[in-house]
Amino acid sequence: MKAIVLFSGGLDSILAACLLKSQGVEVVGLNMITPFHDCSEESRQAAEEIGIELVVRSFGEEYMQMVAHPKWGYGSNVNPCLDCRTAMCREAKKLMEEIGADFVATGEISGQRPNSQKQHQLSLISRESGLNGKLLRPLTAKTLARTDMEREGALDREKMRSFTGRNRVQLISYGRAAFGLKHIPQPSTGCVLCENSYAPRVRDMLKHKDVPTIWDAKALAWGRRLRIDENAYCIVARRLADCDALDRLFAMPERSRCVLLFPHNYMGASVMLVTDEAPDFGETEPRISEKLAAYIQTAGSLSLRFSNPEKYASAEGGPTVRVQLGAAVEFIGIHEDPEVEKIPIIMEANRPEKSKETLEQGGEQNAESAPAEAQAEVGTEKGAVPQDTEESQTGDSNAV
Ligand code: SF4
Repeated sequence: MKAIVLFSGGLDSILAACLLKSQGVEVVGLNMITPFHDCSEESRQAAEEIGIELVVRSFGEEYMQMVAHPKWGYGSNVNPCLDCRTAMCREAKKLMEEIGADFVATGEISGQRPNSQKQHQLSLISRESGLNGKLLRPLTAKTLARTDMEREGALDREKMRSFTGRNRVQLISYGRAAFGLKHIPQPSTGCVLCENSYAPRVRDMLKHKDVPTIWDAKALAWGRRLRIDENAYCIVARRLADCDALDRLFAMPERSRCVLLFPHNYMGASVMLVTDEAPDFGETEPRISEKLAAYIQTAGSLSLRFSNPEKYASAEGGPTVRVQLGAAVEFIGIHEDPEVEKIPIIMEANRPEKSKETLEQGGEQNAESAPAEAQAEVGTEKGAVPQDTEESQTGDSNAV
């Protein structure tokens, strides 16, 4: 038998893959990169360690449609985990059909995640993904309805497990004892949609655009974000990595919505203005509307707001920015504006520096530093699903 295992490289997916392997199932891992979560590197390392083949795929723009309008709503932040897991299972189903695998498995554990792993939610994912009886959760299978593979005797249900709840210590012990796991991955939410510090940016994006693009998601990760009005926002670079990121964002097709401002005769902050007022100038001479000119002035004042006055006060002829609109370049004088001082920063992107590759792939990761054992919560391996009384829900991890 051959199975596709949704594989994040986290402990649960590793255990699910190992358990199936130990039952003689040929396992192919599938790692899905979302615009907000990329754990492909971790999954590659883990797949190599346990000796399984790995396929890495990325979601396209349809993922953004799902984030903007999730059928099953959000978790504690802007994480649409039920929809996201369903989408991942659909991708796994596609791969299953492509390579002639027999079923799909995940490392989900009943009751482990209050937002998306209650028993009825696991059934919903099976149904909505179209996998139905072909979706197995080996770590918790004995607490769930029988899958087709168990009913037909292709898999021995007695060899599956009955873990429930959030007891990570128990999973670690199982992994070490049953499969000799030496490297236990740290628990990690990974997905920035779960992060309190990131959510205001995502909410601002969703509030102002019915269906944002992957480019919009990438732009969230950099600099200071300040909204000028309903139709325009600015990203102000704080450091060199932000400047590089703005350059790369500007090199993408969405540049038609962007104006890039570089300090010309002073040392200071670069700014990207994003607005539908910025038409695609192509190679032609830009015709700047009054509104766009006002936006550019505001963006220029934002550059000064976040620059050292000593650096721009002495600029000859007053501070000037080099303004890039499509392929065209203009030099525009700018000035301080007390009103611009009042524009609130939506949320500082206080994230580790990312490589160019990561920007191109999408979201960033945020490994938690607490030791694995310290993350353990009460839970048991048993036949019954515990009563889930958690109302203050935390974000789900990509433990698929
Ligand atoms: S936490 Fe995981 S399941 Fe939830 S939205 Fe993010 S990647 Fe998807």
